[in-house]
Amino acid sequence: MTEELAAFRGFAYAAAPESRAIVRLEDGYGLFVGGEWRAPAETYTTISPASEEPLAQVGQASAEDVGAAVGAARAAFEGEWSALRPAERAKYLFRIARLLQERAREFAVLESLNGGKPIKESRDVDLPLAAAHFFYYAGWADKLEYAFPNRRPRPRGVTGQIIPWNFPLLMLAWKIAPALAAGNTVVLKPAETTPLTALLFCDVLRQAELPAGVVNIVTGDGRTGAALVEHPDVDKIAFTGSTEVGKAIQRELAGTGKGLTLELGGKAANIVFDDAPLDQAVEGIVNGIYFNQGHVCCAGSRLLVQESIQQPLIEKLKRRLATLRVGDPLDKNTDVGAINSATQLQRIEEFVAAGELEGAELYQPPCTLPERGYWFAPTVFTNVAQSHRIAQEEIFGPVLSVLTFRTPEEAVEKANNTAYGLSAGVWTEKGSRILWAAQRLRAGVVWANTFNRFDPTSPFGGYKESGFGREGGLHGLEPYLRFDEDSTEWGG
Ligand code: ADP
Repeated sequence: MTEELAAFRGFAYAAAPESRAIVRLEDGYGLFVGGEWRAPAETYTTISPASEEPLAQVGQASAEDVGAAVGAARAAFEGEWSALRPAERAKYLFRIARLLQERAREFAVLESLNGGKPIKESRDVDLPLAAAHFFYYAGWADKLEYAFPNRRPRPRGVTGQIIPWNFPLLMLAWKIAPALAAGNTVVLKPAETTPLTALLFCDVLRQAELPAGVVNIVTGDGRTGAALVEHPDVDKIAFTGSTEVGKAIQRELAGTGKGLTLELGGKAANIVFDDAPLDQAVEGIVNGIYFNQGHVCCAGSRLLVQESIQQPLIEKLKRRLATLRVGDPLDKNTDVGAINSATQLQRIEEFVAAGELEGAELYQPPCTLPERGYWFAPTVFTNVAQSHRIAQEEIFGPVLSVLTFRTPEEAVEKANNTAYGLSAGVWTEKGSRILWAAQRLRAGVVWANTFNRFDPTSPFGGYKESGFGREGGLHGLEPYLRFDEDSTEWGG
């Protein structure tokens, strides 16, 4: 039997790699300050987590570099940017949105290369949504008086933005688009493992002819982030990342009068009632936890399933998992890509070991993981108790913990039994049950019969240890504005 015939018999997928040729990597990148490239004193190597291949040298910005970026942002704010008519400001945002669309494939390939996420996700989710955020907020730039009637909105000034590695370009868009629409200038720090799309974005800013200093990008690790947080001339900090670092930032900023929004961790419950359409729910569960390798703060990492349907649902889920394709992020057929870093892989492995030790039952579908790079098979834990670490703590990986419930009240109680409160999902045929549950779930977003759906018009953010402040929608503009009637100079 020929190889092709064997492949056909087994319905194996042939490799369908997206070409890397569209991306032109530099050997090294500087820091984007005041519209120019500033040479960093220290650099580090950024890699592809799927192959451990070095991609480029990137700057580790010092406190002095951060100071220069904040200075450039201040000068741009005091200068031409804040004097610009809002409708003119909007034009830059529209331009950026269109350029992102034009260069979408280049950005998608680079995002998958540097971050390890499947190309079909960066192509179909990250890029369209990033452009959509710029389009959406462009529309608000000259309508702020209508957005906040009788409140005289004004920009805050220089905003410092620190983002994580799970949605590098999308998080950049979530942060930069509302900040610019509101008339602020920006110093943004991408995560240390995924700086490349933020650096490519500087070229989009050049094409859009955005005035120098309006957006500055400083790369580096937590030390660079801390320098940005501590800088006295920053008016507002927007942070997305771990709860631990978020708490440290909040402590640091207490009493300074700087504005702060925090979008932190999550441990979302995805609740499946006995009347839910099971096949549809299985798709939602898979999307909820295996999308982006589970590197999603609002991931549906706790499956709460009504006891009477546990067996058929878990059987269907296991069957579905066997069809997930894990591997090369640049292959268009890949469902689950690489874990973002060696550190994150180690964290996931530790949690999974803890789950087994505490007595939960592990299932992983048969799959061959590549030899090089950082990989973890899609994992389901059943027999999970609420006290287990895998039911309490955020794993940020492709690991699902299954718990059961008997009554809707018990489902809600278990769902809310967490330090977090970012998102939740409800699967049921009954609209009344969706509304009943949504009113009781302490989560910023509640999805009904779907999961991980995002839209720039819809606010996103957390309760409790998931942070405060909202991104997206009208709510997402507010933290970037101050209002004349606010009781303190900088507002709350
Ligand atoms: P994770 O553990 O998922 O990597 P982090 O919260 O450590 O999440 O990282 C999110 C972002 O915060 C990254 O850009 C990181 O460099 C930055 N960061 C880490 N430590 C600090 C800090 N002490 N102050 C400010 N930013 C930080």
